[in-house]
Amino acid sequence: MSLLREPLLLLARSPKVKQLVSTMPVSAGIVRSYVPGESVGSAVEATAALVGDGLEVTLDHLGEDTLDVEQADATTQAYVDLLHELAAAGLTRHAEVSVKLTAVGASLADHGYKVALENARTICRAARNAGTTVTLDMEDHTTTDTTLAILRDLRKDFPETGAVLQAYLRRTEDDCRQLSYEGSRVRLCKGAYNEPGDVAFTDRLEVDKSYVRCLKVLLGGQGYPMIATHDPRLLRIASSLAGRHARQPGSYEFQMLYGIRPEEQRRLAAAGETVRVYVPYGQEWYGYLMRRLAERPANLSFFVRSLISKT
Ligand SMILES: Cc1cc2nc3c(=O)[nH]c(=O)nc-3n(C[C@H](O)[C@H](O)[C@H](O)COP(=O)(O)OP(=O)(O)OC[C@H]3O[C@@H](n4cnc5c(N)ncnc54)[C@H](O)[C@@H]3O)c2cc1C
Repeated sequence: MSLLREPLLLLARSPKVKQLVSTMPVSAGIVRSYVPGESVGSAVEATAALVGDGLEVTLDHLGEDTLDVEQADATTQAYVDLLHELAAAGLTRHAEVSVKLTAVGASLADHGYKVALENARTICRAARNAGTTVTLDMEDHTTTDTTLAILRDLRKDFPETGAVLQAYLRRTEDDCRQLSYEGSRVRLCKGAYNEPGDVAFTDRLEVDKSYVRCLKVLLGGQGYPMIATHDPRLLRIASSLAGRHARQPGSYEFQMLYGIRPEEQRRLAAAGETVRVYVPYGQEWYGYLMRRLAERPANLSFFVRSLISKT
Protein backbone atom coordinates (compact mmCIF):
# COMPACT_ATOMS: atom_id res chain seq x y z
CA MET A 1 0.00 0.00 0.00
CA SER A 2 1.15 3.60 -0.52
CA LEU A 3 3.32 4.86 2.35
CA LEU A 4 1.03 7.87 2.71
CA ARG A 5 -2.22 5.91 2.73
CA GLU A 6 -2.24 4.93 6.40
CA PRO A 7 -1.23 8.33 7.88
CA LEU A 8 -3.72 10.11 5.62
CA LEU A 9 -6.61 7.86 6.60
CA LEU A 10 -5.67 8.36 10.27
CA LEU A 11 -5.37 12.13 9.89
CA ALA A 12 -8.72 12.18 8.10
CA ARG A 13 -10.40 11.13 11.36
CA SER A 14 -9.40 14.36 13.10
CA PRO A 15 -12.32 16.83 13.42
CA LYS A 16 -9.84 19.74 13.03
CA VAL A 17 -8.56 18.40 9.72
CA LYS A 18 -12.12 17.81 8.59
CA GLN A 19 -13.05 21.41 9.44
CA LEU A 20 -9.98 22.75 7.63
CA VAL A 21 -10.41 20.66 4.49
CA SER A 22 -14.17 21.14 4.25
CA THR A 23 -13.89 24.93 4.30
CA MET A 24 -10.82 25.30 2.03
CA PRO A 25 -11.69 26.75 -1.37
CA VAL A 26 -8.99 24.51 -2.87
CA SER A 27 -11.11 21.49 -1.92
CA ALA A 28 -13.81 22.46 -4.38
CA GLY A 29 -11.83 21.68 -7.55
CA ILE A 30 -10.65 18.30 -6.32
CA VAL A 31 -14.08 17.39 -4.94
CA ARG A 32 -15.64 18.14 -8.32
CA SER A 33 -13.36 15.64 -10.03
CA TYR A 34 -14.85 12.85 -7.88
CA VAL A 35 -18.33 14.17 -6.98
CA PRO A 36 -20.61 15.72 -9.64
CA GLY A 37 -22.51 17.91 -7.15
CA GLU A 38 -24.26 18.29 -3.83
CA SER A 39 -27.90 18.34 -5.00
CA VAL A 40 -30.24 15.59 -6.22
CA GLY A 41 -30.57 17.59 -9.44
CA SER A 42 -26.83 17.39 -10.11
CA ALA A 43 -26.84 13.65 -9.39
CA VAL A 44 -29.74 13.01 -11.78
CA GLU A 45 -28.10 15.19 -14.44
CA ALA A 46 -24.79 13.29 -14.14
CA THR A 47 -26.70 9.99 -14.30
CA ALA A 48 -28.55 11.02 -17.47
CA ALA A 49 -25.25 11.98 -19.13
CA LEU A 50 -23.60 8.64 -18.23
CA VAL A 51 -26.65 6.63 -19.32
CA GLY A 52 -26.64 8.59 -22.58
CA ASP A 53 -23.08 7.32 -23.09
CA GLY A 54 -24.17 3.69 -22.71
CA LEU A 55 -23.15 3.30 -19.04
CA GLU A 56 -25.12 2.04 -16.03
CA VAL A 57 -25.02 3.92 -12.71
CA THR A 58 -25.19 3.34 -8.97
CA LEU A 59 -25.76 6.45 -6.83
CA ASP A 60 -24.44 7.07 -3.31
CA HIS A 61 -26.03 9.81 -1.19
CA LEU A 62 -22.84 10.74 0.67
CA GLY A 63 -22.75 10.34 4.44
CA GLU A 64 -21.60 7.72 6.93
CA ASP A 65 -21.22 6.96 10.61
CA THR A 66 -24.19 8.91 11.90
CA LEU A 67 -24.87 8.74 15.65
CA ASP A 68 -28.12 10.64 15.30
CA VAL A 69 -31.42 8.88 14.60
CA GLU A 70 -32.90 11.94 12.87
CA GLN A 71 -29.93 12.11 10.54
CA ALA A 72 -30.36 8.40 9.74
CA ASP A 73 -34.03 9.02 8.91
CA ALA A 74 -33.14 12.08 6.80
CA THR A 75 -30.64 10.00 4.78
CA THR A 76 -33.28 7.31 4.24
CA GLN A 77 -35.72 9.94 3.00
CA ALA A 78 -33.02 11.38 0.72
CA TYR A 79 -32.71 7.96 -0.96
CA VAL A 80 -36.49 7.67 -1.33
CA ASP A 81 -36.61 11.14 -2.91
CA LEU A 82 -33.68 10.28 -5.18
CA LEU A 83 -35.43 7.12 -6.38
CA HIS A 84 -38.57 9.18 -7.17
CA GLU A 85 -36.50 11.65 -9.18
CA LEU A 86 -34.69 8.88 -11.06
CA ALA A 87 -38.02 7.23 -11.90
CA ALA A 88 -39.52 10.54 -13.02
CA ALA A 89 -36.52 11.04 -15.32
CA GLY A 90 -36.98 7.53 -16.77
CA LEU A 91 -33.55 6.41 -15.52
CA THR A 92 -34.27 3.50 -13.17
CA ARG A 93 -33.71 0.84 -15.82
CA HIS A 94 -30.07 1.93 -15.78
CA ALA A 95 -29.54 3.38 -12.29
CA GLU A 96 -29.63 1.76 -8.84
CA VAL A 97 -28.48 3.05 -5.42
CA SER A 98 -25.60 2.18 -3.08
CA VAL A 99 -26.23 2.54 0.67
CA LYS A 100 -23.85 2.65 3.64
CA LEU A 101 -25.57 1.09 6.65
CA THR A 102 -23.80 3.42 9.10
CA ALA A 103 -25.46 6.33 7.27
CA VAL A 104 -28.91 4.90 8.01
CA GLY A 105 -28.34 4.10 11.68
CA ALA A 106 -26.15 0.97 12.08
CA SER A 107 -23.77 2.73 14.52
CA LEU A 108 -26.51 4.03 16.85
CA ALA A 109 -25.79 2.88 20.39
CA ASP A 110 -29.34 1.65 20.99
CA HIS A 111 -31.05 -0.56 18.42
CA GLY A 112 -28.54 0.31 15.65
CA TYR A 113 -29.16 -3.00 13.89
CA LYS A 114 -32.93 -2.65 13.99
CA VAL A 115 -32.94 0.99 12.84
CA ALA A 116 -30.51 0.30 9.97
CA LEU A 117 -32.48 -2.78 8.87
CA GLU A 118 -35.80 -0.89 8.88
CA ASN A 119 -34.30 2.08 7.01
CA ALA A 120 -32.63 -0.23 4.49
CA ARG A 121 -35.97 -2.01 3.99
CA THR A 122 -37.65 1.35 3.29
CA ILE A 123 -35.02 2.12 0.63
CA CYS A 124 -35.30 -1.39 -0.89
CA ARG A 125 -39.09 -1.01 -1.10
CA ALA A 126 -38.77 2.41 -2.79
CA ALA A 127 -36.17 0.97 -5.18
CA ARG A 128 -38.40 -1.97 -6.10
CA ASN A 129 -41.38 0.35 -6.68
CA ALA A 130 -39.16 2.44 -8.94
CA GLY A 131 -38.04 -0.69 -10.84
CA THR A 132 -34.49 -0.86 -9.58
CA THR A 133 -32.21 -2.28 -6.86
CA VAL A 134 -30.02 -1.45 -3.86
CA THR A 135 -26.43 -2.48 -3.10
CA LEU A 136 -25.11 -2.31 0.47
CA ASP A 137 -21.65 -0.70 0.46
CA MET A 138 -19.08 -2.31 2.76
CA GLU A 139 -17.33 -0.16 5.38
CA ASP A 140 -14.46 -0.96 7.78
CA HIS A 141 -13.96 -4.50 9.07
CA THR A 142 -15.73 -3.86 12.38
CA THR A 143 -18.97 -3.57 10.37
CA THR A 144 -18.60 -6.62 8.10
CA ASP A 145 -20.54 -9.13 10.20
CA THR A 146 -23.42 -6.71 10.84
CA THR A 147 -23.58 -5.70 7.18
CA LEU A 148 -23.71 -9.32 6.02
CA ALA A 149 -26.33 -10.17 8.67
CA ILE A 150 -28.52 -7.25 7.54
CA LEU A 151 -27.98 -8.35 3.93
CA ARG A 152 -29.26 -11.85 4.80
CA ASP A 153 -32.34 -10.36 6.49
CA LEU A 154 -33.03 -7.99 3.59
CA ARG A 155 -32.62 -10.69 0.96
CA LYS A 156 -35.52 -12.66 2.49
CA ASP A 157 -37.87 -9.99 1.06
CA PHE A 158 -35.55 -8.33 -1.46
CA PRO A 159 -33.32 -11.07 -2.92
CA GLU A 160 -32.08 -8.62 -5.55
CA THR A 161 -30.14 -6.61 -2.91
CA GLY A 162 -26.44 -6.42 -3.78
CA ALA A 163 -23.52 -7.10 -1.42
CA VAL A 164 -19.94 -5.77 -1.40
CA LEU A 165 -16.87 -7.80 -0.44
CA GLN A 166 -13.36 -6.39 -0.02
CA ALA A 167 -10.43 -8.44 -1.34
CA TYR A 168 -8.02 -6.99 1.26
CA LEU A 169 -9.81 -8.82 4.10
CA ARG A 170 -8.43 -12.29 4.87
CA ARG A 171 -11.97 -13.64 5.33
CA THR A 172 -13.26 -12.54 1.93
CA GLU A 173 -12.48 -15.62 -0.15
CA ASP A 174 -14.73 -17.59 2.23
CA ASP A 175 -17.40 -14.88 2.11
CA CYS A 176 -17.30 -15.10 -1.71
CA ARG A 177 -18.03 -18.83 -1.48
CA GLN A 178 -20.98 -18.16 0.84
CA LEU A 179 -22.38 -15.51 -1.48
CA SER A 180 -21.85 -17.07 -4.92
CA TYR A 181 -25.32 -18.64 -5.15
CA GLU A 182 -27.83 -18.08 -7.94
CA GLY A 183 -29.21 -14.55 -8.15
CA SER A 184 -26.69 -13.18 -5.63
CA ARG A 185 -25.28 -9.83 -6.77
CA VAL A 186 -21.80 -9.32 -5.31
CA ARG A 187 -19.50 -6.35 -5.89
CA LEU A 188 -15.83 -7.23 -5.42
CA CYS A 189 -13.50 -4.32 -4.62
CA LYS A 190 -10.00 -4.09 -3.12
CA GLY A 191 -11.18 -2.19 -0.01
CA ALA A 192 -10.69 1.45 0.93
CA TYR A 193 -10.24 1.60 4.73
CA ASN A 194 -7.19 1.49 6.98
CA GLU A 195 -7.19 -2.07 8.28
CA PRO A 196 -4.81 -3.92 10.64
CA GLY A 197 -2.66 -6.83 9.43
CA ASP A 198 -4.45 -9.44 11.54
CA VAL A 199 -7.66 -9.00 9.52
CA ALA A 200 -6.37 -7.65 6.20
CA PHE A 201 -3.55 -8.11 3.70
CA THR A 202 -1.51 -4.93 3.88
CA ASP A 203 0.81 -5.64 0.95
CA ARG A 204 -0.53 -4.50 -2.47
CA LEU A 205 0.52 -7.69 -4.23
CA GLU A 206 -1.18 -9.84 -1.58
CA VAL A 207 -4.38 -7.80 -2.01
CA ASP A 208 -4.22 -8.29 -5.79
CA LYS A 209 -3.67 -12.04 -5.40
CA SER A 210 -6.63 -12.24 -3.06
CA TYR A 211 -8.71 -10.26 -5.60
CA VAL A 212 -7.89 -12.86 -8.28
CA ARG A 213 -8.76 -15.78 -5.96
CA CYS A 214 -12.09 -14.10 -5.15
CA LEU A 215 -12.76 -13.43 -8.86
CA LYS A 216 -12.26 -17.12 -9.56
CA VAL A 217 -14.84 -18.05 -6.91
CA LEU A 218 -17.39 -15.46 -8.05
CA LEU A 219 -17.02 -15.95 -11.81
CA GLY A 220 -17.05 -19.72 -11.34
CA GLY A 221 -20.14 -19.53 -9.10
CA GLN A 222 -23.84 -19.05 -9.80
CA GLY A 223 -24.20 -15.39 -8.78
CA TYR A 224 -23.86 -12.08 -10.59
CA PRO A 225 -20.32 -10.70 -10.01
CA MET A 226 -19.82 -6.93 -10.09
CA ILE A 227 -16.11 -6.39 -10.71
CA ALA A 228 -15.22 -3.04 -9.14
CA THR A 229 -11.69 -1.97 -9.99
CA HIS A 230 -9.75 0.47 -12.19
CA ASP A 231 -6.64 -1.70 -12.10
CA PRO A 232 -5.70 -2.53 -15.73
CA ARG A 233 -4.07 -5.83 -14.79
CA LEU A 234 -7.06 -7.04 -12.76
CA LEU A 235 -9.43 -5.94 -15.52
CA ARG A 236 -7.49 -8.07 -18.02
CA ILE A 237 -7.49 -11.05 -15.66
CA ALA A 238 -11.23 -10.64 -15.00
CA SER A 239 -12.01 -10.62 -18.74
CA SER A 240 -9.94 -13.73 -19.30
CA LEU A 241 -11.51 -15.55 -16.32
CA ALA A 242 -14.99 -14.56 -17.54
CA GLY A 243 -14.15 -16.20 -20.88
CA ARG A 244 -12.76 -19.29 -19.19
CA HIS A 245 -15.98 -19.69 -17.20
CA ALA A 246 -18.07 -19.14 -20.38
CA ARG A 247 -19.62 -16.02 -18.87
CA GLN A 248 -21.49 -13.95 -21.47
CA PRO A 249 -21.46 -10.13 -21.17
CA GLY A 250 -24.54 -9.31 -19.08
CA SER A 251 -23.98 -12.23 -16.68
CA TYR A 252 -21.47 -10.03 -14.80
CA GLU A 253 -20.52 -6.36 -14.88
CA PHE A 254 -17.60 -4.00 -14.40
CA GLN A 255 -17.88 -1.07 -12.00
CA MET A 256 -15.75 2.07 -11.67
CA LEU A 257 -15.95 5.31 -9.72
CA TYR A 258 -17.19 8.59 -11.20
CA GLY A 259 -14.26 10.55 -12.62
CA ILE A 260 -11.73 7.70 -12.54
CA ARG A 261 -10.55 6.27 -15.90
CA PRO A 262 -13.65 7.55 -17.77
CA GLU A 263 -12.14 6.61 -21.17
CA GLU A 264 -11.72 3.02 -20.01
CA GLN A 265 -15.35 2.99 -18.79
CA ARG A 266 -16.50 4.01 -22.28
CA ARG A 267 -14.08 1.67 -24.06
CA LEU A 268 -15.38 -1.37 -22.15
CA ALA A 269 -19.01 -0.36 -22.73
CA ALA A 270 -18.36 0.11 -26.46
CA ALA A 271 -16.85 -3.40 -26.50
CA GLY A 272 -20.21 -4.78 -25.30
CA GLU A 273 -19.50 -5.06 -21.57
CA THR A 274 -21.92 -3.83 -18.89
CA VAL A 275 -20.14 -1.00 -17.05
CA ARG A 276 -21.65 0.70 -14.01
CA VAL A 277 -20.33 4.01 -12.69
CA TYR A 278 -20.56 4.75 -8.95
CA VAL A 279 -21.80 8.34 -8.61
CA PRO A 280 -21.52 9.91 -5.14
CA TYR A 281 -23.34 13.17 -4.46
CA GLY A 282 -24.27 15.35 -1.49
CA GLN A 283 -22.67 17.65 1.06
CA GLU A 284 -20.96 14.97 3.17
CA TRP A 285 -18.13 14.39 0.68
CA TYR A 286 -15.26 14.58 3.18
CA GLY A 287 -14.75 10.87 4.06
CA TYR A 288 -15.19 9.83 0.42
CA LEU A 289 -12.66 12.42 -0.79
CA MET A 290 -10.09 11.36 1.81
CA ARG A 291 -10.30 7.71 0.72
CA ARG A 292 -9.84 8.71 -2.93
CA LEU A 293 -6.83 10.90 -2.09
CA ALA A 294 -5.29 8.15 0.04
CA GLU A 295 -5.25 5.74 -2.92
CA ARG A 296 -3.73 8.25 -5.35
CA PRO A 297 -0.38 9.73 -4.22
CA ALA A 298 -0.20 12.15 -7.18
CA ASN A 299 -3.48 13.85 -6.20
CA LEU A 300 -2.45 13.75 -2.58
CA SER A 301 0.82 15.64 -2.93
CA PHE A 302 -0.93 18.35 -4.99
CA PHE A 303 -3.63 18.62 -2.35
CA VAL A 304 -1.24 18.71 0.64
CA ARG A 305 0.94 21.38 -1.04
CA SER A 306 -2.17 23.53 -1.57
CA LEU A 307 -3.25 23.07 2.04
CA ILE A 308 0.19 23.95 3.45
CA SER A 309 0.46 27.07 1.31
CA LYS A 310 -2.89 28.30 2.72
CA THR A 311 -2.17 27.63 6.43
C1 LIG B 1 -17.86 0.88 -8.04
C2 LIG B 1 -17.00 0.85 -6.82
C3 LIG B 1 -17.57 0.67 -5.59
C4 LIG B 1 -16.77 0.61 -4.45
N1 LIG B 1 -17.35 0.34 -3.24
C5 LIG B 1 -16.56 0.16 -2.16
C6 LIG B 1 -17.09 -0.26 -0.92
O1 LIG B 1 -18.30 -0.48 -0.76
N2 LIG B 1 -16.24 -0.42 0.13
C7 LIG B 1 -14.88 -0.20 -0.01
O2 LIG B 1 -14.14 -0.39 0.96
N3 LIG B 1 -14.36 0.23 -1.17
C8 LIG B 1 -15.15 0.41 -2.24
N4 LIG B 1 -14.59 0.80 -3.43
C9 LIG B 1 -13.21 1.31 -3.46
C10 LIG B 1 -12.20 0.23 -3.68
O3 LIG B 1 -12.14 -0.60 -2.54
C11 LIG B 1 -10.80 0.82 -3.95
O4 LIG B 1 -10.41 1.59 -2.87
C12 LIG B 1 -10.72 1.66 -5.21
O5 LIG B 1 -11.52 1.13 -6.23
C13 LIG B 1 -9.28 1.71 -5.75
O6 LIG B 1 -8.83 0.41 -6.02
P1 LIG B 1 -8.57 -0.15 -7.51
O7 LIG B 1 -9.12 -1.54 -7.54
O8 LIG B 1 -9.11 0.77 -8.52
O9 LIG B 1 -7.00 -0.32 -7.58
P2 LIG B 1 -5.80 0.70 -7.36
O10 LIG B 1 -4.58 -0.14 -7.40
O11 LIG B 1 -6.03 1.58 -6.18
O12 LIG B 1 -5.86 1.62 -8.66
C14 LIG B 1 -5.63 1.12 -9.97
C15 LIG B 1 -5.54 2.32 -10.93
O13 LIG B 1 -6.78 3.03 -10.94
C16 LIG B 1 -6.58 4.43 -11.00
N5 LIG B 1 -7.05 5.03 -9.73
C17 LIG B 1 -7.38 4.37 -8.59
N6 LIG B 1 -7.82 5.22 -7.64
C18 LIG B 1 -7.74 6.45 -8.17
C19 LIG B 1 -8.05 7.76 -7.70
N7 LIG B 1 -8.51 7.96 -6.47
N8 LIG B 1 -7.85 8.82 -8.52
C20 LIG B 1 -7.38 8.64 -9.78
N9 LIG B 1 -7.07 7.41 -10.30
C21 LIG B 1 -7.24 6.35 -9.52
C22 LIG B 1 -5.10 4.62 -11.17
O14 LIG B 1 -4.83 4.61 -12.57
C23 LIG B 1 -4.53 3.37 -10.51
O15 LIG B 1 -3.25 3.06 -10.97
C24 LIG B 1 -15.37 0.80 -4.57
C25 LIG B 1 -14.79 0.97 -5.83
C26 LIG B 1 -15.57 0.98 -6.95
C27 LIG B 1 -14.91 1.11 -8.28
